[in-house]
Order: sequence, then structure tokens, then C-alpha cells
Amino acid sequence: MPSETSVRLSTCTLSGALLWPRAPLPAVRWRVSLAKLRTERNLLASRASYSTVSEPVEVTINQKHCRTAKIGTEAYYADALISLAHVHGHGMTGMSATFKNIGMGLGSRGGKQAVHCAKDAPAVDKEKCVGCAECVAHCPVNAIKLVHRKAAIDGETCMRCGECTVVCPHGAIAARYDDLPRLVQERIVEYTYAALKNKKNKCLFYNFALDITPSCLCIRLSERPIVQDIGILASRDPVALEQATFDLVKAQKGLEASILPRAHRKGADKYKALYPGIDTERTMRYAEEIGLGVRKYKLKEI
Ligand code: SF4
Ligand code: SF4
Repeated sequence: MPSETSVRLSTCTLSGALLWPRAPLPAVRWRVSLAKLRTERNLLASRASYSTVSEPVEVTINQKHCRTAKIGTEAYYADALISLAHVHGHGMTGMSATFKNIGMGLGSRGGKQAVHCAKDAPAVDKEKCVGCAECVAHCPVNAIKLVHRKAAIDGETCMRCGECTVVCPHGAIAARYDDLPRLVQERIVEYTYAALKNKKNKCLFYNFALDITPSCLCIRLSERPIVQDIGILASRDPVALEQATFDLVKAQKGLEASILPRAHRKGADKYKALYPGIDTERTMRYAEEIGLGVRKYKLKEI
């Protein structure tokens, strides 16, 4: 494996379907832009679901957490892979981009659950809960009910997706973290390893560092980006790509109008400010450890 790989960065203003302004958008246009993004994402997700609901392929990887990984059949047997990932924040991984796109996205339904798997369902703070049922409406598996006007989570049904922890407008639901983010990060890396195992030299990875929102795109909220748009990054090495993306986000000045609580200065870790318990670079370090690529890169602006 080479000690350094090249990462290409295009900062050009895009054209056609991918035309997004580089300056922060006013609130109304921002909502339109996100709605469009979500529609496209949902269309893609519904197509991808063919690969994630059919009988998965049990790929042997013999890694620290997973001896095998359940990968969607069509994804595993595809001849080659081009990953297009949107860069944003995430409550379990800090920054979310290529690794989450592949390691979570290409896992079968059971695989996704195995990657997320927390010991316990999130906890509801009954003092803060006002019974608005927002969490009930958003739970993808109907694991939440209102009991005496307070949310109650059925731990057996809950799939630990964390959606309720971000949609509650009163901050009444919290994930029980323990060591969870690090484990999720490492399992995502191991699933990425499994998805790419039979595609050596047949992959290309893109990170779209545009509309860099603070939370996972699963949540149905409009959020302002935390930094200005950076551009589109591409590499054949997912580790170098992820590292370059993280470094570039860090190098930006944080946008004051966003929910970024602090760390607005250039060079500050924006994801750490959003998710204090999470070390984003753990993903890249572990990916390098298990041979998915190298963190050292040379950035070529085109
Ligand atoms: S969204 Fe929050 S406040 Fe509303 S019912 Fe759920 S836990 Fe309670
Ligand atoms: S973590 Fe996900 S599955 Fe579990 S209760 Fe919350 S929204 Fe439902």
C-alpha cells in the first residue's frame, strides 16, 4: 500500500442538477434545497433497498468486532462501486461521509442493526417530556408510545437508530452512550471493509462537501450548514478522502448563524463542538489500521 494517496478537490461552482450556491442560503431557499436533497436521497434509498432487503451475503472478515458482515446482495455482487457521499455531522460518528455511506448504507437490514447495536434503548427524561408525540411520529419501528402523556420506549422493538434523540424539541430523550460511538465507528469501518472486499481497484469515492449540515440527514429538520461549502473531493482511497474532508472542514471558519455552539475559529474541530464525546478521526485511524487505505494525502485542487 502506498504511504500517501492523492485526493482531488474541485471547488468549482457546479452546474446542472448539482447546482448549489457556495454562500449560506437564506432560510427559505435552504429549506427548498434540503427538501430537494431529501427527495433525491429517498429515491436513491428506495432503489438501494433492493440490495438491502434481499437475502444478504455473509462476508467473512474476521475483524475485531465482526467475524462476518451482512452486506446487501446486489451491492456485494456489483462489478464496481462509485460512492457519492454527502458530508454532514452525525451523533454517532462526528463527521459522516464515505465510511457511513458504505459501511452503513450497504449493510443489509440486519447488518445495519448490527452496526448500530447499542445495549440499551435511549432513555426518556420524564421531567422534560411534555407529551407532544413528536418522537412517536418519527420512530421508524413504532417503538414509542405515550403512557400517561409521557413517552415510553419499548426496548425490545427499538432498533437503536437514535432518531428520537434528535427530533425531541425538548431534549427529553438521550442515547445511552457508554462506549457506543467508538464501537459504531469501528463497526462501520469493518462493514466498509466487507463491502469493498471483492472490489479491489474497482472503487471510486466522492465526498460532496456542500451544505454541510450538523446532523444526520435521517432527521426531518431544516438545518443551516456549519461551514461554507468547500467543493467535491474524490479519491480512490476512502481513508485519505475522509481525512482530507475532515481537515478541510476543520480549516473553515464556523458559521455563526448555525447551531455550532462554539469552535467557530479556523482549525477548530467543528464536530467535536457538536458532539463532545466523539472522536471523528477514530474512524480514519481504525480504517488505516485494518488496511483500507492511508491517512496521508496530497490535495490537488482542480
Ligand atoms: S418528542 Fe420529547 S417531549 Fe415530545 S413526547 Fe417525545 S420525548 Fe416527550
Ligand atoms: S432509537 Fe430509533 S427505533 Fe429506538 S425508539 Fe428512538 S426512534 Fe425508535
